[in-house]
Amino acid sequence: MPGANLTRVEAQERASVVSVQHYDIELDLTRGGKLFGSTTTIAFDAQAGSSTFLDLIADSVQSVVLNGQELNVSEVWADSRIELAQLNEHNTVTVTAMCVYSNTGEGLHRSVDPSDGNVYLYTQFEVPDARRVYAVFDQPDLKAVFDFRVIAPEGWEVISNGLVSSKNQLVGRTDEGTLTGGETRNRVMWTFTSTPPMSSYLTALVAGPYAVWRTTASNGDGRQVPMAIYCRKALQEAMAKDADYLFDVTKAGFDFYNKTWGVPYPYDKYDQLFVPEYNAGAMENIGTVTIRDSYVFESKVTDALAERRVVTVLHELAHMWFGDLVTMKWWNDLWLNESFAEFTSTLATAEATNWKDAWATFTSGEKSWALNQDQLPTTHPIVAPIDDLNDTYVNFDGITYAKGASVLKQLVAYVGRERFFEGIHNYLVKHAYSNATLHDLLQELEATSGRDLRTWSSLWLEQAGITTLSAEVATDDKGVITAFTIHQVAPQEHPVLRPHRLAVGFYNTNEAGAVVRTDRVELDVDGADTVVEELVDKPRPEFIALNDDDLTYAKLRFDEQSRQFALAHVQDFDSALTRAVIWLSLWDMTRDGELPAQDFVDATLHLLARETESTTYRYALSCMSFTAKHYVASAKRAEVLAHVAHELWTLAGRAEAGSDVQFQLVGAYLGYGESGDSEFEATVRGLLDGSVVLEGLQIDNNLRWSLLTALARINAIDEDGIAAELAKKDTTENRQFALGARASRPVEEAKTWAWEEAIRNTELTNSQLEAVAAGFASAPADLANAYVERYFAEADGIWTNRTFHMAEALLEGLWPSNADAERLVEQGDAWLAAHEDADKALRRLVIGNVESARRIVAVRTFNDAL
Ligand SMILES: [Zn+2]
Repeated sequence: MPGANLTRVEAQERASVVSVQHYDIELDLTRGGKLFGSTTTIAFDAQAGSSTFLDLIADSVQSVVLNGQELNVSEVWADSRIELAQLNEHNTVTVTAMCVYSNTGEGLHRSVDPSDGNVYLYTQFEVPDARRVYAVFDQPDLKAVFDFRVIAPEGWEVISNGLVSSKNQLVGRTDEGTLTGGETRNRVMWTFTSTPPMSSYLTALVAGPYAVWRTTASNGDGRQVPMAIYCRKALQEAMAKDADYLFDVTKAGFDFYNKTWGVPYPYDKYDQLFVPEYNAGAMENIGTVTIRDSYVFESKVTDALAERRVVTVLHELAHMWFGDLVTMKWWNDLWLNESFAEFTSTLATAEATNWKDAWATFTSGEKSWALNQDQLPTTHPIVAPIDDLNDTYVNFDGITYAKGASVLKQLVAYVGRERFFEGIHNYLVKHAYSNATLHDLLQELEATSGRDLRTWSSLWLEQAGITTLSAEVATDDKGVITAFTIHQVAPQEHPVLRPHRLAVGFYNTNEAGAVVRTDRVELDVDGADTVVEELVDKPRPEFIALNDDDLTYAKLRFDEQSRQFALAHVQDFDSALTRAVIWLSLWDMTRDGELPAQDFVDATLHLLARETESTTYRYALSCMSFTAKHYVASAKRAEVLAHVAHELWTLAGRAEAGSDVQFQLVGAYLGYGESGDSEFEATVRGLLDGSVVLEGLQIDNNLRWSLLTALARINAIDEDGIAAELAKKDTTENRQFALGARASRPVEEAKTWAWEEAIRNTELTNSQLEAVAAGFASAPADLANAYVERYFAEADGIWTNRTFHMAEALLEGLWPSNADAERLVEQGDAWLAAHEDADKALRRLVIGNVESARRIVAVRTFNDAL
């Protein structure tokens, strides 16, 4: 059993033996650019005479002292664990080690900014990577108080979960953190106040010459909470424009959450740190939220991303209560953390910020993610069996986040919003600073709502899959409804029907040509057939919306008349949410081979001519592109691609100057270039040199790199050309863009380079590796085909030799998605058959890819036959 993959059983056993009081951790960040010093003293109780173990991944361990007795390091430290035997009732252990900085975004990540030579550090500990930084009982239910001391070069900011209680200069100097050729610096010891009891995965350390902005937020209980925002010096100018806005959003979140569940913010301060080369969107470390610094906008971004940043800020804030104050016992309730944060942050975004269409965003974005993953053979119940850490890693997925949040939205409709949050309040108060399970939450919700949630939970949370709802409508010759039935069908692999609280909406065209809602009923649907008497005797509308307002989670199929109406008029509905629900259903039918791909492309082009909701726009563009490239009939593919590219450029020309729509259309258009297309090349070159102008469209740094990458993808710029562009402005971001552009060139030599670089060059940071992989994956079919066999030949080695994040980035990023789909399926099935005993998490990553190819084969076959 590899020691790094803690199992649930081991964690339970350990928690039954020990309870931890206190960590005293001293980290020395002045020992050079590879290693840092780590000394940890832990006070804990145990059953006398028992034994247990600490987690520690380190370069070397200098000493382990247990209850005053020095242990033999080579005997007790092995396999990322330190064995502790013959324990007393009260114990103290001190571990002194040298640990390793990472370049993968896991543990303590060290990033050097090429634009100014500055060094930036930050930690990322979820799932359990605190053990890469200090010796720890690394599991969420062993909460303890943490005291951190950190030695850092003078001139740095150091941030941890507690407040700074003192800063003292030490003897000796360091050359860490000095710019090239600079002088050595003094060493400063930072001491932080004790934290409240907390889980190790939520501890954090951020250090470096970060720029900082400060304010305070009112906590609703008369207390002012200090808040700060940090980012790299290189991003200071861009952040200066946004810091006040982000503070305002955060304060709106404080107010909204205070009002909604009535528990004052439980911690001493709230810092948001925008950090480089970050793997996720953000992380809810207590009072010390880390956020990817691509969320500092130096260049223009889509409104979709600007909104996503707001949702992310509010998501992490929600975790301070849900996840941090009350924490899951084990990773099987990860979904509860994430669903809750995702649901409440969308609610807060819609109701407390200017992004009023946040629920349309949720439908287009989150739900399409959930729909996709829930129909893979790798889908799992929301409450997933998590036997070990590898199970957890792969569960940061569309089920845990997106389906979980959709089902929580349904639960709120089911029990009523007020009662839901009353239950949340009671749950938070009862389990504060401690751990809880789904059962504890359901108990509180049952008490406030009076509804039996045991059956509900077993149907919705403990079984996988998604059911399909459809309406059957009969009318008389005057168009009056004589019968209305809602059918529910479950997929064969997951034969479970569910209770739904949902709305049915009637829609008609008004005099202005807009399609508006003219009637709505809300009802409980259960079982295979639900007869809706309330709708009988009403005139049949032009469009009947099942799951109006998107209250429940299901696949939707329209009655024939509504389907025809939707295809022709999806763009005319006045509600962004209704457009999103309809468009998503059309997409789902396309993926299922029930709607001709050509119809979906046409309807989406109609939508794009009118749509203004940015996230729906973004997903519509992306799904249309996938459809045109992979799903349309083989014989029509070239024609459809040319038509779509032409339409996008035409729409961009007509779009409002400087608008989000114009920006998105240009970005999408750049994805349609093919080698030898001289018109495309001329347009891109013209945009770059200013001879082609779209009014209001600024060619800023990121758009410039998008244009260069588009040229690279059609082999219209070479390696030297890309290097020359990078030399003009060498930054962390532009290095990634340049790597991506170089890997994008559609020539064998570039693909070989990218492949080898991604797999063998461990000096590449996480973000650089992702850029290279993304460039590689754009390989057209003739080049991609050569990599099908190689992909499967490398998979085992990648899984064995790399950390989880890097392995996932490689296995997903290097998938040659444009290769012949039949070939991918055939070789994928062979690999899976030969790897039945491979790690479940590895299999799951591969299955996800193979299934995507299998769907392409099925859907294209459907379209070929039309
Ligand atoms: Zn989260």
